Amino acid sequence: VFAHIPHVPEVPLYAMLVAFSKDPTPLKLNLGIGVYRTEDGKPFLLNVVRRVERLLVNDMSTFKEHLPTTGMAEFNRLSAKLILGADSPAIKENRVTTVQCLSGSGSLRIGAEFLAKHYHHHTVYMSQPTYANHPNFFNAAGLAIKTYRYYDPGTCGLDFQGMLEDLSSAPSGAIVLLQACAHNPTGVDPTLPQWQQIRQLMRSKGLFPFFDSAYQGFVSGNLDEDAQSIRLFVADGGECIIAQSYSKIMGLYGERVGALSIVCKTAEVASCVESQLKLVIRPMYNNPPIHGASIVAAILKDRDMCNEWSIEVKAMSDRLISMRRQLFDALRDKGTPGDWSHIIRHVGMFTFSGLNPKQVAFMNQEYHIYMSSDGRINMAGLGPQTVPHLADAIHAAVTI
Ligand code: PMP
Repeated sequence: VFAHIPHVPEVPLYAMLVAFSKDPTPLKLNLGIGVYRTEDGKPFLLNVVRRVERLLVNDMSTFKEHLPTTGMAEFNRLSAKLILGADSPAIKENRVTTVQCLSGSGSLRIGAEFLAKHYHHHTVYMSQPTYANHPNFFNAAGLAIKTYRYYDPGTCGLDFQGMLEDLSSAPSGAIVLLQACAHNPTGVDPTLPQWQQIRQLMRSKGLFPFFDSAYQGFVSGNLDEDAQSIRLFVADGGECIIAQSYSKIMGLYGERVGALSIVCKTAEVASCVESQLKLVIRPMYNNPPIHGASIVAAILKDRDMCNEWSIEVKAMSDRLISMRRQLFDALRDKGTPGDWSHIIRHVGMFTFSGLNPKQVAFMNQEYHIYMSSDGRINMAGLGPQTVPHLADAIHAAVTI
């Protein structure tokens, strides 16, 4: 009965990972995959996570029965506090409903499904370019995708004018997907005053903000600072949706732990929204897993552990900044043609290098460097020992 099903090719990023794993060259370098790595390219387990896991193993009160459909209440409360701030009036007024979801992806998917069912406008605007999976979450829910200008290849920075123009001509009520900080794939974020202008425009046009927060703390090293874009939108009393991921910020990728928060106008609305979220979640997977949420809750509720975590987040963000500086210096020292200052201007984990698909293919063939064809570099895949190799490859690619 399945004989008619055509085979679809692997998505390019995954195909690249397979090619990487088969490449026998010791020099090979994976800058494509979106995970944070140590200086020597190893997966990174945060110390605070290690510590909590040891405590959880010995905690006789832990259980393995089902969580409620909305997940672990304490995890939800702490996640809302982490993103909206300890003194958020919206939380105090009980206007925020938060549900535990399967990481950032699951939060985006549930949010999309909820909007498709209960929101009157079925078009989502997303940045051009955006995280490759973003359109899929919303398409799968039956929403139409449109884009707004975001990245300016001329300046390797934000096309702010283009973004404002496109949002101005979006129909009133349309949903706008915004990355809270550390934009994937470009590494380009609006400044706070620019966020303020985006907010004013969106509120005046009645555009609905859907925030994706997958890298809180990775830009400034400070968790509160990196949530400012979202907090601006919440401070004006308006509504929004927020998808949070703990994959990168706690290194919990495979635990699939995230949260979806919906900020409503009143506590009554929030309660109705939550009741409907359960109806979205139940037919999909009934309820989320316990372990990852237990780790996050244990860290966020304990002042000492939370401090330890924020120090580790700062160290990750510092390492990313240092890799940017080292790569930029190496290219400058080699006299590589072109202006590479965007590498140090970009923020978070990624840099849109400006390398074209031909140059990327050349670097792959000649230098065994694996990255996506759009030229995105994961700075966390680099270490001091591998910077010279990458600089050599970029130099060769732009001078052939
Ligand atoms: N949003 C953005 C911007 C991302 O970059 C990613 C992962 N690369 C996600 C969401 C989803 O990640 P996860 O499901 O692992 O939380």
